[in-house]
Amino acid sequence: MPYTEDRARWFEGQGLWQHLPESEWRDWSWQLKNRLTSAAQLEQFMTLTPEEKEGFRFAGSKLATAITPYFFNLVDRNDPDCPIRRQVIPRGDEMVVSEEEMPDSLGEDAHSPVPGLVHRYPDRVLFLVTDRCAAYCRYCTRSRLVSNAQDYNFHPEYERALRYIEAHSEVRDVLLSGGDPLLLSDHKLDHLLGRLRAIKHVEFIRIGSRIPVFLPQRITPELCDVFRKHGPVWMSIHVNHPKECTQELKDACERLAFAGVPLGNQSVLLRGVNDDADVMKALVHRLLRMRVRPYYLYQMDLVTGGSHFKVDVRKGIEIIRSLRGHTTGYAVPQYVIDAPGGGGKVPINPEYIERITDDEVVFKNYEGKTFRYPLKAPHKSSVPAGDALKAPVS
Ligand SMILES: *Cc1c(COP(=O)(O)O)cnc(C)c1O
Ligand code: SF4
Repeated sequence: MPYTEDRARWFEGQGLWQHLPESEWRDWSWQLKNRLTSAAQLEQFMTLTPEEKEGFRFAGSKLATAITPYFFNLVDRNDPDCPIRRQVIPRGDEMVVSEEEMPDSLGEDAHSPVPGLVHRYPDRVLFLVTDRCAAYCRYCTRSRLVSNAQDYNFHPEYERALRYIEAHSEVRDVLLSGGDPLLLSDHKLDHLLGRLRAIKHVEFIRIGSRIPVFLPQRITPELCDVFRKHGPVWMSIHVNHPKECTQELKDACERLAFAGVPLGNQSVLLRGVNDDADVMKALVHRLLRMRVRPYYLYQMDLVTGGSHFKVDVRKGIEIIRSLRGHTTGYAVPQYVIDAPGGGGKVPINPEYIERITDDEVVFKNYEGKTFRYPLKAPHKSSVPAGDALKAPVS
């Protein structure tokens, strides 16, 4: 059945927790404390499938389960195929490990000069500041370290990482990620951003976070003041499905935007979640309405136990083709494969060019019509000005 979106509806309210005082619901530490972390807790609200029960038998030693009450409200408890449910409730499939999968599929540990710092591209570093998240995504690329279910014992060394960045004047861009950096206290973030801002050659600071999506209550006025103080700080959020675009998330994005934080979105292309042109179109339209510019669409990394989420790359290309030209240019993310082993992000695009010669480039537009663009400078005397504008089109 094709996905049809109710464009007017933005989920709001407290759902299953409607009798809780609103002040508690809005308190992000209440949300964290009351996360659903076990099969027994979930079973108070829903019937788990045998597949999901099996998933819980292994999750403790692979990637912990945690779902904020806020996000759990978005799960369709009657639909085992609910796209929100698939993202956060473990399944037995996670224990299916195929040959090409790796715990560290992007070779991050090999590119790490200091624990917690990944220096892959010459001019920018990835700074992993924590191994905790508000909730855990079953397909997480960093499941080797986040939640510490695999005993990785991740210990970021902030001081050493900062000194490394200070000593490397080629680093102009620092990306804070993890785990989720917005789980740090306001005070710690204030300190970290202040230290980075004080480094003369660091001109671009950004944060990758799924907290606005899992725990929008965390985007407090005080946190926004920290971003205002050290801005510009850019942020990439992580939304995969239009159902995640709630009134709460919209409000959180507005608070961030009004604090001067430019917002982008990174989605992962996931089987049974967003591997569908209609779903993706609804998602990117909602993102724009929340002031969020779709940035990347990721092909699933080859992370251990992730194969049940894998989508054929040709499907991803078809989805991008269905967007480009058919909707607002701002709405179209760049589809990428993060090269296995650590080659960086590589753009994967639909092919529009039919042929390039010394004379012309021949290409198709979004409707499939062919156009030509001449490459040779026309001979001054031979082409009357009027005719040059009427280039032949087949
Ligand atoms: C994704 C990533 C970056 C940032 O890449 P951009 O294309 O600039 O967003 C930087 N370092 C590492 C290791 C990354 O994986
Ligand atoms: S929020 Fe990011 S780091 Fe945390 S589990 Fe999800 S994908 Fe992994």
